[in-house]
Amino acid sequence: MSVLQTPIDYLKTVGPNRADLLKKELGVYTYQDLLNLFPNRYLDRTQYYKINQLQRNSAEVQIVGKIIHIKMVEQKRGKRLVATFADETGEMELVWFRGHKWIKDSLKLNTPYVIFGKCNWYNGFTMPHPELELLAEHKASIKSSMQAIYPSTEKLNNKGISNRIKIKLVQILFEETKGRFQETLSPNILEEFNLLSKSEALRNIHFPKNAELLAKAQFRLKFEELFYIQLQLVRKNITRKHKIKGYPFDQVGELFNEFYQNHLPFELTNAQKRVIKEIRNDLGSSAQMNRLLQGDVGSGKTIVALMTVLLAIDNDFQACLMAPTEILATQHYNGLKELVKDLPITLKLLTGSTKTAERKVIHQDLEDGSLNLLIGTHAVLEDKVQFKNLGLAIIDEQHRFGVAQRAKLWKKNTVPPHILVMTATPIPRTLAMSLYGDLDISVIDELPPGRKPIKTVHRYDSNRLKVFAFIRDEIKKGRQVYIVYPLIQESEQLDYKDLMDGFESISRDFPQPGYQISIVHGKMKPADKEYEMQRFAKGETQIMVATTVIEVGVNVPNASVMIIESAERFGLSQLHQLRGRVGRGAEQSFCILMTGYKLSNEAKTRLEAMVKTNDGFELSEVDLKLRGPGDIMGTQQSGILNLKIADIVKDNDILKLARHTAIRTLKEDPNLSLEKNKLINYTYQLLGKHKNIWNYIS
Ligand code: ADP
Ligand code: MG
Repeated sequence: MSVLQTPIDYLKTVGPNRADLLKKELGVYTYQDLLNLFPNRYLDRTQYYKINQLQRNSAEVQIVGKIIHIKMVEQKRGKRLVATFADETGEMELVWFRGHKWIKDSLKLNTPYVIFGKCNWYNGFTMPHPELELLAEHKASIKSSMQAIYPSTEKLNNKGISNRIKIKLVQILFEETKGRFQETLSPNILEEFNLLSKSEALRNIHFPKNAELLAKAQFRLKFEELFYIQLQLVRKNITRKHKIKGYPFDQVGELFNEFYQNHLPFELTNAQKRVIKEIRNDLGSSAQMNRLLQGDVGSGKTIVALMTVLLAIDNDFQACLMAPTEILATQHYNGLKELVKDLPITLKLLTGSTKTAERKVIHQDLEDGSLNLLIGTHAVLEDKVQFKNLGLAIIDEQHRFGVAQRAKLWKKNTVPPHILVMTATPIPRTLAMSLYGDLDISVIDELPPGRKPIKTVHRYDSNRLKVFAFIRDEIKKGRQVYIVYPLIQESEQLDYKDLMDGFESISRDFPQPGYQISIVHGKMKPADKEYEMQRFAKGETQIMVATTVIEVGVNVPNASVMIIESAERFGLSQLHQLRGRVGRGAEQSFCILMTGYKLSNEAKTRLEAMVKTNDGFELSEVDLKLRGPGDIMGTQQSGILNLKIADIVKDNDILKLARHTAIRTLKEDPNLSLEKNKLINYTYQLLGKHKNIWNYIS
C-alpha cells in the first residue's frame, strides 16, 4: 500500500478533531486526498492593501498595521472580541466570536502585524477571524510570491482551520513523502508535450516557484485529468463496437434506390449526403450503431431518418421512430406517409390516444411482420408492443427521452437494434466530446438552400402597439403568426393566467371575423390540441397563441412571425427551438422577443445572443458559458463533469489535445500492453476501481 493511502488522521498535527473536519468539510480522508486538494486560486503575498483601499465584496486581502485597542463586546448570545486595527490610512475592526481568552492573551498591542482574510462591511470594514502574523515573522516566512488559496467552508474557518493551516498541512505532507510521487503518464507523452513530471507538477500546484511553473503545473494536471476521462470514453466506445453485435444491413436495396432516384422531393444538401453515408457505413458493419445526429432546427433531419428506415426495410427489418409529443409524432406520420406514398411500405401511428381496436391491429401487424414502420410517442415502449424483427430505432429530439428509455428499446429484440438519436438542441462540441465520447456523432451543419435567415429583434412591452401593427401587416400579406407564452412547471397556475390574459387581449386587438385565432396549451386534451394545430396548419387561423408545447417539430411553412412573450424567462436553447418554428418557407421570417425593462445581466446576454446569431451551435456555446455544463445536461449526466482542475469550457484546447492523444494511444495499442504505456495502463486500471478520477494517483 502506498503511503498516500494513509488516513489523514496520521498526518502530523492532525488530531481526531481536525481529521473529522477535513473529512466532512473537504472530503479529505487520506494523504492522497490532501495532495489532490487543488488550490482555487493564488494570492500574491507580496501585495499589501492599505485600509483606505479596501472595497466592499473583495476577496481576501492582506494589510500591514497595528492593533491599537482591544475590547470585549456583549451581545445577545455570548460575547465577541473586537480589536481596532490601524495603519497610516485608517482604522478597521478585527472580530472574533470564539476563542476569546486565548486570542486576547496572545495579541500584542502596537506591534506591526500582517493580517489576512476577507473583509465585511458594517458601518466600516471588519475582518472576522483574521489570520495574524507578526510582520517580522511574516517577512521571514514568505517563500513564494504566489500563495495557494485552498477551498474552504465556513465551518472550517470557524474552527480555526484557516488557509495558513492548510498550507502547513500540505507542507508536512511534502516533508513526509519527500515530495516524490509516482508518475502517471508515459515518458513519450511527457516528452511530446513537454509536460512537468508528476512530482514537479504537484509541488508547483501547491507551492508555485513562479507564474511560469504554476502554469505548467496546471497544464499538466488538467491534461492528465482530461486524458484519463477520454481514455475511458474512447475505450468504452471501442469495446461496444467489438462486443455488441448488430445486424449488418449489407443491402442498399430497391426501396432506398427507388426513393433516392425517383421520389426525393429536393436535392440533398452536402451535409445530409455526408451523414447518410456515415450511417450507411455504420449499418453495413457488423457492430451495432449508436449514433447521435445533431442538426439545427430545419436542417432536414427527417429525410435522413427516412432514408435510414428504407435501408432497414430493404434488409427485411422493421423500424420505429419515436417522438416526444403526440403533435410531433402525428406530424412525422403525416409527413412520412406523404413522402413514401408511392413506395410499397406500410406505416402506422401509435400514441396515447390510439383507440384500442386500432392498437390491436398494430400489435398484430408488428408481430407478424407485415408492418414495416411504427411511428409514435412513448407508447411505443410499452411491453405489449412487440416486433417480429426490429432492426432500427430512431429517437427524435432526444432531450425528452432518458437513458432508461433508450435501454428499453434495446430490449425489443434479441440483438439490439441500431439506434439513431436525433437532436435539434445542439450540444456544444466540447461537451458532446466529454459526455458522448461513447456515442458516434454526426452533424448536419448546413441548412437547405434558399432559406432566408430569420430576423430577430428584441422589443420592450411598451412597444406592443407597434408590434401588433407589424403583425397586422404580415397577416395582410397572407402570413401566419405564433405568439408564445412561457410555461414553467412551478408557477403553472400563474403562467396559465398569463396565457389566458394574453389570449383575451390579442382577441380584442385582432377581432373576428377578420382574424381567426387558435390556442394550444398543455391543459387541453390531445385531440383538441391536434384540432387547433390542424386549423392553423391549414391556414384557417392566422394567429396561434400557445405555450411551449409547440416548441419542437411543428412545421407550418407559411408561419413567418414568432413572438415570444416574457422572453427573459426562457432558456437559450428553448428560445432557439421556438424561433425554429418560423423561417421554414420562402418568405422572410421574423422572431420578436418581448420583455419588460427589468432584465438580469444573464437574460440580457441571452437576448443579445439570439439577436446576433441564428447558429444553434454558437448559441449552445454561449449557453454553456452562462450556465455551466451541469445545468445543461442535467444532474444525471454531470457526474463525469466533476472535474477537479480542468474546466470544460475554458480548457477546451487541452480537452481536444487530450482526446486526440487518447484516441491515438488506443489506436496504436488497444490493450495498453506496450512497454511504453505501462504507466498509463496501471493508472487506467486503478481508475476503473474509483469513482473520483484523482483517487488513482499514487
Ligand atoms: P429538422 O431537422 O428540424 O427536423 P426537417 O427535416 O423538418 O428539419 O426539415 C425542415 C424542412 O426543410 C422541411 O420542410 C423539409 O422538407 C425541408 N428540407 C429538408 N432537406 C431539404 C433539402 N435538402 N432541400 C430543400 N428542403 C429541404
Ligand atoms: Mg425534426
